Amino acid sequence: MSQFTPENNVLVGTIPDIKPILLPEGNPFTSRVMQFEKMEISAPESLHSTINFWIHLTEAAKHAYADLEMAPPTLNDAAPFLKDAELLPYFPNVFKHIVAALNAKKLADEVKSVLTAMADLSDETLIAYAKTLLGQGSDEIAKEYLPFLSIALKAVYVKSATLATLPKLEVEQGFHDCPMCGDAPIASVLDPMDNGLRYLVCNTCETKWHKVRSTCHSCPNTGKIELLSLEGQESPMKAESCPECHAYIKHLDRTKNPMLDVYVEDLATLALDFTLAEENQQRLSMNLYLR
Ligand SMILES: [Zn+2]
Ligand SMILES: [Zn+2]
Repeated sequence: MSQFTPENNVLVGTIPDIKPILLPEGNPFTSRVMQFEKMEISAPESLHSTINFWIHLTEAAKHAYADLEMAPPTLNDAAPFLKDAELLPYFPNVFKHIVAALNAKKLADEVKSVLTAMADLSDETLIAYAKTLLGQGSDEIAKEYLPFLSIALKAVYVKSATLATLPKLEVEQGFHDCPMCGDAPIASVLDPMDNGLRYLVCNTCETKWHKVRSTCHSCPNTGKIELLSLEGQESPMKAESCPECHAYIKHLDRTKNPMLDVYVEDLATLALDFTLAEENQQRLSMNLYLR
């Protein structure tokens, strides 16, 4: 059994440089806005209004995140470490901050009418919706509310994760779900600072956790994982597909360009998702910008 200590967050008994958990740092929405702006420049005219909405939504989350003041979280003894009950009270204000920022922008009428409808939601309802997004509630949520709710929840959870001090814990085979909040990964990544190690990135709090490259993100398969792309080997965004459980996850190689963003690159490679869906491959986590 391996162990890592709070002092160094390094697995004992394995390669010394492996950090099993890497907490997010800084405001994740800042570079995401820039990557969406880049995307818009090269995108066809027909996509500009959609990308513009993504930019405004991310920009609003960036400001709500910057203004959010939170105490460092107290953690559970075992994963998932973040306590939802401690974080959820922050959610309604962050959500309202985002809605207010968007209301001040020039947006399509259909977006404006969703913003108006959401302005009447009570704190109680908003928290019930957040619980549903976390998989703990059964409230029906209007589909058009989902991107706004999801990005507000992300702002709260990322901020809390950035403030956390990792606990002492024992790691046997790595985690399937996020060790901080329990959500599924949005993608796996190779980052230049991580010694060629593959990490999974949480779809909610953006914590990264180490997972050996040849293991499936979803099932116990440690055999062959296929790397697929429609644009050839040079494409930074591919899909890791498991022949055992037929689940796949996007894989982003940032070793050549650390600025690439998992959400933006995911949206830029949706053709790959359509192809895999035709082959009955399943994806376990949804990009919030498509909710
Ligand atoms: Zn998480
Ligand atoms: Zn699998």
